[in-house]
Amino acid sequence: MPVLDPPEDDPIGPYRRLSYSQSDTHRRCPRMWYHRYVLGLLGGTPPIFAMGHAVEGALNRVMRDCPALVASDAPSETFDSPLDEYDNGAGNMVLRPSTHSDAKWPALRIMPLPKSVWPNNRKAMTEWAKARAERHFEREWNIARESWEEDPNRIGDWDSFEDARKEDALEMVYAGIEFHLDEVEDCISAKGGPFFENWRIGKHRPKWPAPDGLPYNYSKPHICAESEGEITWNEAWEVARPWFCDPDAGLFALSAVHPEGWLQGEYDLVYRWTGEIRIHDVKASLGTSDFSFGYPEQLATYAYLWWATHERREMVTELEIWYLGVPVRKKIPLPDEDALLRLERRLKILHQNLKLTEKHLERNFPGTPAPVRAFLPGGEFSDVEPKVGMARCESCDYQTICSDSPLEKELPTGGERRFAVSSQAKVNCTPISEIYPFVTLFGTVREPNMVKQWPTFEKEYLEFFLDLGPNEWVAVVVKKDDPELPSEFEHGAMIRIKRGIVASGWRKDLGNHIRIDLSFSSSIEIATSSKGGDARFADLRPYSYNINAKIFNFDHRENKWGSRLIDSSGTIAFQLWGGEEKANSLLEGYSPERGDEVVLVGARAKDQFGKIVLEGRVTKNFSTRLRPAPEND
Ligand code: SF4
Repeated sequence: MPVLDPPEDDPIGPYRRLSYSQSDTHRRCPRMWYHRYVLGLLGGTPPIFAMGHAVEGALNRVMRDCPALVASDAPSETFDSPLDEYDNGAGNMVLRPSTHSDAKWPALRIMPLPKSVWPNNRKAMTEWAKARAERHFEREWNIARESWEEDPNRIGDWDSFEDARKEDALEMVYAGIEFHLDEVEDCISAKGGPFFENWRIGKHRPKWPAPDGLPYNYSKPHICAESEGEITWNEAWEVARPWFCDPDAGLFALSAVHPEGWLQGEYDLVYRWTGEIRIHDVKASLGTSDFSFGYPEQLATYAYLWWATHERREMVTELEIWYLGVPVRKKIPLPDEDALLRLERRLKILHQNLKLTEKHLERNFPGTPAPVRAFLPGGEFSDVEPKVGMARCESCDYQTICSDSPLEKELPTGGERRFAVSSQAKVNCTPISEIYPFVTLFGTVREPNMVKQWPTFEKEYLEFFLDLGPNEWVAVVVKKDDPELPSEFEHGAMIRIKRGIVASGWRKDLGNHIRIDLSFSSSIEIATSSKGGDARFADLRPYSYNINAKIFNFDHRENKWGSRLIDSSGTIAFQLWGGEEKANSLLEGYSPERGDEVVLVGARAKDQFGKIVLEGRVTKNFSTRLRPAPEND
């Protein structure tokens, strides 16, 4: 099954991996990729995006249940998997089914149902599975609604969407069940397939088993395994079960990762009971949209990923899309080894250009949209002529801000702006592209030391004083874990600091003073004398910025109120740390929405992993303010 973890010496890291959706975004329009992945502009989330998760989640929960253990009316949670936190290789912890020996797997602790109620034909199995689907679907639908409601970038209206589409969504789960039962029935016709006898005696459990309520390394016969005779419906249900993402696992927690670490993807269904590898992809749709154009390549990418993660020996023998809205199963042409190698070359070049390039220039991502194609239900090509030219812009998230879009609208440009509706106070706003908070300083190092940092005093950073002249000094904090320092760096060394940011410092023994923060893009070099570009002590004061921009999207995280602002000159992240209380101080009753034009007053710039971001300050004497821009200003 999938290689879940990157090689230990993976030099690339998951954040530099390519996924199908990135490659598809680039194919639809390179500029779209630039907006999304370079500028970090996020499109809106309509309720229909959540529907796909609900359908797939409910279907997977049904397939995971065991008819010999789970009654048709048992609560949805009955067969939930025990989870543990694992590092996903990018330093983030994700929830995955537990591999610990003391994990409490449901199939080991639930009393089997009487054999007399085990489904023993298609009709009984369908009734059981659909009853399970109803239980699971309500749960998944509620999860989908909650996660949509928590999404700060949600757009549309859930209630009207639910009225129009909820029943359809449940029908799609039923359709998926019927497709899976076709597999179960095929399995019965094939007498369980080539591994059946071994399975019966507990000797056929793959390294990555399908989620089935049992531990990964379970090696006893299954509860419904018979000792002899024809394969039963329960046995076929267990044997035919494909691998899929455990529905309790976190998002993208079970991705397959290329052995070289540059590509990743998450399969929907991997059927293995025939001894061959068949990958099926579930779509909660009719397949009539333009997205259908990219699906063959998505499935081919899965075939490539499987082959590449299985020593280039195991070829996928079937690719299929389940369009549950029709419902129909569509076979996708299988790539042969030459086609896989061609795909590898193309994806590797894309990976090189998109993920390994340090700096992306907008001009390298032209606004050249691919034609928009229409499809018949089931993802079949239609005779309708593709819409070419800039037709794709009409449905693009970036249509109003993209310089190549015919639908572009004017954006704020900085300059003098009124600050609040009720106030005539005007502030001078800096165009985003002109935000440059860095200074260059020349001076002599004094008392370098590792110092535990406020507020937790757990992290240590290098701190020192830099003497610029008689009675002229600044405190320097090098906010890097492993800073590159010249070998002669020591007390008394003369240095030049490049790309430092001026901040206000306070310490009990020093009082208020000027502090220079060195971060990701800063550097220190040995120098012998002052030069023209070096800042003078008298000019050092923390910069703060006023901005007139539109809110393109939000990016709230735990403890962070985040947004991405755009004006005619560029985009920038604006964030405020400190939870709801601080955010309320910043907003004072204003509920910003995507697309609002705002005036931001008094934000500080910071170097965050080499990118300039703005931060709000909410203190006793001063608060950064964010207000809607007054109309007709
Ligand atoms: S608006 Fe048009 S040109 Fe711009 S990114 Fe979208 S599709 Fe491409």
